[in-house]
Amino acid sequence: MAEAKTPARGAESAQRGSPPGDALAKRLARLGLAGRCDLVLHLPLRYEDETRVTPVAEARAGEPVLVEVEVVESSVQFRPRRQLVVKARDATGLVVMRFLNFYPSQQKALAAGARVRAFGEVKPGFFGGEMVHPRVRVLRGREPLATALTPVYPTTAGLPQWELRKLVDAALASCPLTETLPDEIRAGLGLPGFAESVLALHRPAAGADLAAYASRTHPAWRRVKFDELLGQQLSMRAHYRARRAQRAPALAGEARLTRALRARLPFRLTAAQERAWREIERDLASPHPMNRLLQGDVGSGKTVVAALAALRAVESGHQAAVMAPTEILAEQHFRKLSEWLAPLGVRVVWVAGGQKRHERRAALAAIAAGETQVAVGTHALFQEGVAFASLALAIVDEQHRFGVHQRLALREKGSGVAGAGAIPHQLMMSATPIPRTLSMSYYADLDVSVIDALPPGRTPVVTKLVSESRRDEVIRRIREACRAGRQAYWVCPLVEESEALDLQTAIDTHARLAGELADLRVGLVHGRLAPAEKAQVMAAFKAGDIDLLVATTVIEVGVDVPNASLMVIEHAERFGLAQLHQLRGRVGRGAADSACILLYRNPLSEAARARLKIVFENTDGFVVAREDLMLRGPGEFLGVRQSGVPLLRFADLERDADLVEAARAAAERMLTEFPQAAARHVERWAAGRADLLKA
Ligand code: ADP
Ligand code: MG
Repeated sequence: MAEAKTPARGAESAQRGSPPGDALAKRLARLGLAGRCDLVLHLPLRYEDETRVTPVAEARAGEPVLVEVEVVESSVQFRPRRQLVVKARDATGLVVMRFLNFYPSQQKALAAGARVRAFGEVKPGFFGGEMVHPRVRVLRGREPLATALTPVYPTTAGLPQWELRKLVDAALASCPLTETLPDEIRAGLGLPGFAESVLALHRPAAGADLAAYASRTHPAWRRVKFDELLGQQLSMRAHYRARRAQRAPALAGEARLTRALRARLPFRLTAAQERAWREIERDLASPHPMNRLLQGDVGSGKTVVAALAALRAVESGHQAAVMAPTEILAEQHFRKLSEWLAPLGVRVVWVAGGQKRHERRAALAAIAAGETQVAVGTHALFQEGVAFASLALAIVDEQHRFGVHQRLALREKGSGVAGAGAIPHQLMMSATPIPRTLSMSYYADLDVSVIDALPPGRTPVVTKLVSESRRDEVIRRIREACRAGRQAYWVCPLVEESEALDLQTAIDTHARLAGELADLRVGLVHGRLAPAEKAQVMAAFKAGDIDLLVATTVIEVGVDVPNASLMVIEHAERFGLAQLHQLRGRVGRGAADSACILLYRNPLSEAARARLKIVFENTDGFVVAREDLMLRGPGEFLGVRQSGVPLLRFADLERDADLVEAARAAAERMLTEFPQAAARHVERWAAGRADLLKA
């Protein structure tokens, strides 16, 4: 299908214009506005209606209105503090306006007899209606009312609304509001044009359906949200295509090692694990880089699937890297992989920040020379100075805990190494499921394998909500469990503000519990321990030499001690939902009945109670994650929360799910039928964000 003649790609960016004035440019930058024309998409938060005058008597509390009144009396009062008090009236009633900060000129202008329009909320007061700090305008003669609603924009210090309005007006007048949607796509969706929509949003006409604006269901809002989602889909699809165009080593080895590992395992893979492995195996055999997420609830057995993938790289003559977000978790992977792979003659090496210098040097040399086939470690693995002889597969555990930038760095590590121009396959693992709407948008360039069943023989964890006033009972319960040969975790409260306090709490809690449970062996592990000490404590716990392990959230991810059947989480109300679910997943890994006690401190706020209830009522990580998403927004899943980059400005993945679907279909069509329009659309929406989205 032919495409209408349109300006070439880049025309719009050339017209973005340089930002005016340095100080102003800085303020605009704080709002994410790089150029003059970016203001076109800086949309109002809400509107104020100055298109009509409301009689004083009809003003309702909670609703800002415009009143037109005549000043009856004006005076400066000093109680409770200095303020200008202006009594004014219209034909229907009296209103008292109070100004705490005022200039002498204002006081003069608001003298008795002045006619003014005041905009603000009229609250019931002692003498009738009261307006605190209304926006006033003294009338000289007959002045027309505004014909459009007054937009209120998101702004920043030093940038008043009136100035923003002026800048937006200028942008609307001079920037190209080019239509990027081909007519046949737009008509099919019943959406209004782009220019029409942004104008309607910036300057709604008097009498516009404000409810539809407020709920963002107005067609103009739907158009803009659709465009935003389309921009996202287009860049995702573009990355997908770009990835398909890249080369990776095709890993189709003889299955000698993978078969040997399976023969040695003390268990059979579950059907879900088999399915995930088949999907991964197929991807690895292709000459294009895999970008796959292996998703499975805590304890579902992702590690063994990762081990098979690593072996596939090795039996195909290449290397694999396994990266985890914490040393404890990485160390555990190292042990497990060594235990599984070493007997097969595969050399596994350890790389982490806390390592002794000469050990690290030896490890890096072995990796660079290709003497070792599997490297396991923390983010130290992709720091400078680490060079692989032939990295063909990067495995990232708990991927959402890594920043987007770190993930990108790891991918670059392998570029050009595993054959000229090739990049490594990537397998990510996560126990935090990505809700469907997210996987259709941010993760559109990600294939997902799900392990949706736990290995047989697990007993579900019983979750209990217990008030701290019943701590004694909890202590008794720990003693019973440990006397019966089981083990337990005690997770210390998180102190948000300070790592040092966190540490102190853990030390104090350990001391107290060691006293209360003097007959048990009580251990302590926290983030500040040296890696070797940490490893020692974890090994002792695993060996059963510690009964009760007091820990900070360092044990949150991946720790695997099947004999531990009881977990107490102190101050559970301070944890995130997904975090609680992860923690809870540390127990229930063996055959024994397991329990997770969420200790909370009274009084518990309604919100905190509701949150804890979600974890209490749901054992399914997917449900917990979904609720968590609703409470905290999608940044959490993407690992970009810290970067401050807004993910979606206008659309809401949950509420606008229908638009997400529509955008997805439209993106596919635009890329094949209207590539130029697609490019222009991406330029308008995805400038500057492209990099973050491709991780
Ligand atoms: P996660 O998915 O949380 O990373 P792990 O890979 O740590 O889970 O597996 C949890 C435990 O289950 C480990 O002890 C692992 O050896 C064991 N396991 C994995 N797969 C199976 C299976 N098919 N049958 C029995 N146990 C299994
Ligand atoms: Mg794991």
